[in-house]
Amino acid sequence: MRGVAARGPFFICGKFPVGLLFFSAAPAKFSDVDKPIFIGHEIFRGSSYGEHHPLRVPRVSTVIDLARALNWLPRGQFITSPRAKPKALQVWHDPAYIAALQRVEAAQEIEGDDLTRFGIGTVTNPVFGEIFRRPATAAGGSILAGELLSQGGVIYNPAGGTHHGMPGRANGFCYLNDPVLAMLSLRHHGVRRIAYVDIDAHHCDGVAAGFAGDPDCLMISVHEERLWPRTGLIDDDAGGNAVNLPVPRGFNDTDMAHVREALILTKIAEFEPEAIVFLCGADGVVDDPLAHLGMSNNAHWDVLRGLMGLGVPRLLVLGGGGYNPWTVGRMWTGIWGILNGYDVGGMLPDVAEEVLRGLTFNGNRRGRNPPEHWFNTLQDAPQEDEEICEAVVQRVSHLAARPMMARRPY
Ligand SMILES: [Zn+2]
Repeated sequence: MRGVAARGPFFICGKFPVGLLFFSAAPAKFSDVDKPIFIGHEIFRGSSYGEHHPLRVPRVSTVIDLARALNWLPRGQFITSPRAKPKALQVWHDPAYIAALQRVEAAQEIEGDDLTRFGIGTVTNPVFGEIFRRPATAAGGSILAGELLSQGGVIYNPAGGTHHGMPGRANGFCYLNDPVLAMLSLRHHGVRRIAYVDIDAHHCDGVAAGFAGDPDCLMISVHEERLWPRTGLIDDDAGGNAVNLPVPRGFNDTDMAHVREALILTKIAEFEPEAIVFLCGADGVVDDPLAHLGMSNNAHWDVLRGLMGLGVPRLLVLGGGGYNPWTVGRMWTGIWGILNGYDVGGMLPDVAEEVLRGLTFNGNRRGRNPPEHWFNTLQDAPQEDEEICEAVVQRVSHLAARPMMARRPY
């Protein structure tokens, strides 16, 4: 395989020319790359929203370290994420809001109506050191992915997945909305029909705001019912192109297997997309401190395997939520392993175990006595039941029977 990282303008750390993010006359060639690409950046290492915030924990850096420890991340498959320029972000976000994020980052304090107008400076969306650069780097990776995927392929941007971001305000730990920007980038580069699948524990209200009523974007979200932001009710179809499945607390691997087969894969196959964007938030795992779902990471991995089996020529996998440093790091590393066909089961070698033993989870009871398998495996024990939850069965059949928006003629 020819190494993408070594080619042309991709590898300009942090100084990515905006022309390549949206406006290049000659799109980057991707067709000669037959292996998945990992987009990452060191800005996520050590970046924290503050010592009491759920996003104080390392996530992307753990995935990079574990993948490297396992020899799963050769240089040729890694691209350093570009940081999106304001102009590229303004394809969806308000210029005044982007300017406010940059100003707040420089001053490290809010002024005027930043809090009421832009939602910056709240407990959930605090001022922190990289308040513009961190989300702009995650967004730059997703925008680049949209460009590269125009030629087909598989890309993983675990820093992406900020699905609550709104055009003009911060929302739910998300300052920008990289999934929306990724899909707009795909569209800009000629990819029309996109299936967006989101199995984060929270509903993707920002993505829904971006693509409601778009017949060429199928949005499927499986999320915990009555959890913030409390949107994505079962009969909210966003004008005809959304499938929202709220699921009860304790939703487990058996339930997800049913949802995967009877709803997610069926709806996507019917839709015939040119690209899949998969947001694989890790907060639906039983050990997450914010949500109350009961899955193991096998459930998420099996959804990925199912999506990979559909034969869609473009796949972008994004991160999302996930607030237990061990469950996030193990699950998202497993995602990269599966994309590459590696065995994600069994015991980890010492060098990978060291990465996991080096993590801390300050201020959480799970951090005091982590179980051994959080250190020496990627794969959780399955969280299965003998029967599928009845509420899940009923809701899935209700949604499966509902006709989708008609295809727009070309
Ligand atoms: Zn979430």
